[in-house]
Amino acid sequence: MIKPGEVISYLDMCKEEGANLQRGMNFHFRRTRVSVILMSVRRGAPYSDRVEEEGKVLIYEGHDAPRTKNGPNPKTTDQPMKNPSGGLTENGKFFNAAMHYKGLGSEPELVRVYEKIHAGIWAYSGVFKLVDAWQEVSDNRKVFKFRLELADSKSVSGNETLPELDYTRIIPTAVKLEVWKRDKGRCVKCGSTNNLHVDHIIPYSMGGSSLVAENIQLLCAKHNLGKSDNLE
Ligand SMILES: [Zn+2]
Repeated sequence: MIKPGEVISYLDMCKEEGANLQRGMNFHFRRTRVSVILMSVRRGAPYSDRVEEEGKVLIYEGHDAPRTKNGPNPKTTDQPMKNPSGGLTENGKFFNAAMHYKGLGSEPELVRVYEKIHAGIWAYSGVFKLVDAWQEVSDNRKVFKFRLELADSKSVSGNETLPELDYTRIIPTAVKLEVWKRDKGRCVKCGSTNNLHVDHIIPYSMGGSSLVAENIQLLCAKHNLGKSDNLE
């Protein structure tokens, strides 16, 4: 199972989730309890997602209505809660789940988050809890906003669809991208391009920083696992 911090291609991401990820928002994907969202904080990204509190909080923007022939520009119309047929859009489904958690004390929706770091290259950010949602005005139209908080292992124990929750601190996108470019998308030990992880050279538990590329490197799964927490 994929671990937070792993860097994978689009195809591997789809393989990991067991289906093609055509959309950014996927409520109860694969009929499990777990939802999947794809986010991007890159310049020119279609939606303004952002990361707060060193990666422990994500503010994710809802998605536009699909573009239709002769229809209005989706970028100038309110993001829809419902489809023309009356069913909830992904915005509506996530919004409802957040309201159930906030207002009714339901279990939070668990969301697996992937972040785009480069064309065709994604990093797995981990499992987040959906804790709030609201609509706000942006560029003269209403958009949805969703607040997600990094789930600790306590809040997701007993959920067998989740991978082992061994969190490293989330590494900022700019750092991941810098490391990806510097290491040329390959394991620094063997040059493998498969199952790459962004690895702390000095472990986070020993005071190593997540914030500077100098302390981060790309390792394949084999070399990542072979590395103990003791410094050589
Ligand atoms: Zn390697």
